[in-house]
Amino acid sequence: MLNLVLFGPPGAGKGTQSQRLIEKYNLVHLSTGDIFRANIGGGTDLGKLAKSYMDKGQLVPDEVTINMLESEVNKHSDVKGFIFDGFPRTEAQAKALDAFLEGKGMSISGMVALDVPEEELKERLKKRAIDSGRTDDANPEIINNRIAVYKNETAPVKSFYEKQNKYYAINGLGSIEEITSRIFEVIDAIN
Ligand code: ADP
Repeated sequence: MLNLVLFGPPGAGKGTQSQRLIEKYNLVHLSTGDIFRANIGGGTDLGKLAKSYMDKGQLVPDEVTINMLESEVNKHSDVKGFIFDGFPRTEAQAKALDAFLEGKGMSISGMVALDVPEEELKERLKKRAIDSGRTDDANPEIINNRIAVYKNETAPVKSFYEKQNKYYAINGLGSIEEITSRIFEVIDAIN
């Protein structure tokens, strides 16, 4: 199995690159942000809870997020692998994911991290806000908060995978195609 964690700050291009990876490697794409947004759209209790955090640029609590992610993984059997996009975002989530996968005889193959400078991220999020309609992209204060949360809570997840020799940094600047081929190169080396 090929189980990838796609990592990077808000606006790094995780969603765009995930689309290309699932096509090439036939993987199941699990984006916690997308799943939360689908729940918000469907008016579920989970959606209402998630929205109260997302609207402020804060993380949804670990327990809620971990439970949701595990039940999504359990919906799939006999698959070639998963792309975890936007998860794990805290060290607690990373530990929970390892333990959960181990219980299923699975493991993370590698973390692919997209490196993009902060100024470029802010530009991209501003542009995305225009066509995505995402309220958390439209407000500079919320964007700053998401970047701060990333630095404080999410960036440490990098060392979690580094310690396991599973961390691969990718230059996230360039054309979409260039970045895709950099990622393919890394995956083909570990797969
Ligand atoms: P981006 O990476 O562009 O910020 P996402 O769609 O991945 O966008 O996430 C949007 C929001 O959803 C986050 O700001 C956070 O509130 C919530 N969220 C997504 N994934 C997680 C997670 N793993 N843990 C906690 N909250 C999450």
